[in-house]
Amino acid sequence: MNEAYICSECHQTYPVKDMLWKCKCGGVLDLLEEKVAFQSENIHHHLPTMWRYVDALPFSKEADSWKRVTMGEGNTPLISLEPNAPNTYVKVDYMMPTLSFKDRGAAVLIAKAKELKLESVIADSSGNAGTAIAAYAKRAGIACDIFLSSSTSPKKPFQSAPSF
Ligand SMILES: [Zn+2]
Repeated sequence: MNEAYICSECHQTYPVKDMLWKCKCGGVLDLLEEKVAFQSENIHHHLPTMWRYVDALPFSKEADSWKRVTMGEGNTPLISLEPNAPNTYVKVDYMMPTLSFKDRGAAVLIAKAKELKLESVIADSSGNAGTAIAAYAKRAGIACDIFLSSSTSPKKPFQSAPSF
């Protein structure tokens, strides 16, 4: 995979190895996606987690950083919300490792950070994302600082603490 960042404002691209915070114009950088159709035969059905779809995620083919990060996230149950409305389903994401759907994004983010050999990450969060990023960073052995607003629930700083 020939990875690059692209600026959301001016569309300038940069190699991922440059480790930039933002574009020279000040714009936010996004990972430039390869537009390759995902084939269903690329689903790793033997994996009981979201990593069954790893081939659709932005990792190099040889990358296995996710194996050192995963805590079994994803593939949560899908239950019928109402017996009389059988086509309405709810994903039971409180069964995720930090009890939040934020684990999916945090696991991918930290696995990518591990692949890029980053030693530390920072994030700002109103709560659950900070908890998830802190948990996965700890799992990966990556230092992590989480910035929470003063309006954050008092339980959230405790959840994001390094001793988690
Ligand atoms: Zn730019």
